[in-house]
Amino acid sequence: MQSIFKKAKRIVFKFGTNALSADDGSLALSRLYSFMEDIAVLHQQGKEILIVTSGAVGVGRRILGLSGQEDGVSFKQACAAVGQTSLMKTYEDGFRDLGIVAAQVLLTEDDFSNRSRYLSLRDTLGRLLELKCIPVINQNDTVSPNELRGYKEKGVKVCFGDNDKLSALVASGMDADLLCIMSDVEGLYNADPRKDKKATLIHQVKGVTEEIEALGFCASSRGRGGMKTKLEAAKVVTRCGAAMIIAYGKKHGAVGEVFGPSFKGTLFLPVEDLPGKKAWLAYATNVTGSIKINAGAKKALCEKGSSLLPAGVVDVTGDFEPGDTVAIYDASGKEVARGLANYSASDSRKIMGCRSEEIAKKIGFKNYDELIHRDNIVLL
Ligand code: GLU
Repeated sequence: MQSIFKKAKRIVFKFGTNALSADDGSLALSRLYSFMEDIAVLHQQGKEILIVTSGAVGVGRRILGLSGQEDGVSFKQACAAVGQTSLMKTYEDGFRDLGIVAAQVLLTEDDFSNRSRYLSLRDTLGRLLELKCIPVINQNDTVSPNELRGYKEKGVKVCFGDNDKLSALVASGMDADLLCIMSDVEGLYNADPRKDKKATLIHQVKGVTEEIEALGFCASSRGRGGMKTKLEAAKVVTRCGAAMIIAYGKKHGAVGEVFGPSFKGTLFLPVEDLPGKKAWLAYATNVTGSIKINAGAKKALCEKGSSLLPAGVVDVTGDFEPGDTVAIYDASGKEVARGLANYSASDSRKIMGCRSEEIAKKIGFKNYDELIHRDNIVLL
């Protein structure tokens, strides 16, 4: 376990609202300073650090003297606008005292789903790391109501509704070796520790299987995430070649402890190393439509890694253009893959069920034999 921490060169830390808050909801300043001191030690050792921080809404709420009962999205956005500057100033001042330059980066889901913005984000973050800065990242809550609303919006899957997923996208997009989620839970338990006294901590997980996913029952008290979103983050990160830990972060020196001999949380081992474009396709894009395939096509995709031909398609929904990301469902309605469509939704509807030789006859042209080429398909 220790060797994973030692070898990790690029590390993303995610500090949840709970890890950064005192019991009365105020920013736990000395705790945050202790995290920055521990991070400075790692930085000194040559590690590249990125931070994904929550806390803007909570800090803003206190500055504005709001009670927390004001539930509307625009209230939270206003709180985030007020709180973010104050939160960032704390990081900036703290790191400056430690001889480190912090850089603020605020992101929305579009910065991931739009490939050119995503590539530009990667370049900028890479440059910041080269300059030995520590990027301090949060969701750009003020301009993106989706982020503060939650997961699903009008049936379209959004990239992230919480900072757990954001930190996973940052870690996978930046090819990090390790994501450390510092939370108010000690890790993943085999039962709900609030209800079951016999619940024990799982120290190591290899692969976020359905059984592991079933353990995602604990919600977080203040932040938006919970164990479920942390397990989703683990799925993304471990398929993209990195390890992830969940550790208790509501105490002084919690970051240092992760890298010391007494680490107590849950470690998720890497299981796969999806190449960059496929990782983006699987986790960072928004799907604009979906394609249902028959059993034969599913077998070809999942077992042989084949392309998706129009003949295997039984239904097309949504409105997409060539190059857009579509979800691929099997006959039972389970999403099995994602891919970049070669034809628009309306053309796909006209050619579904046909042999590739019939494409030109049906829509008047044929640029590709496949509806989705295998290089542009990633299995989920
Ligand atoms: N962006 C939110 C904030 O800074 C936190 C989101 C989350 O906890 O997932 O308050």
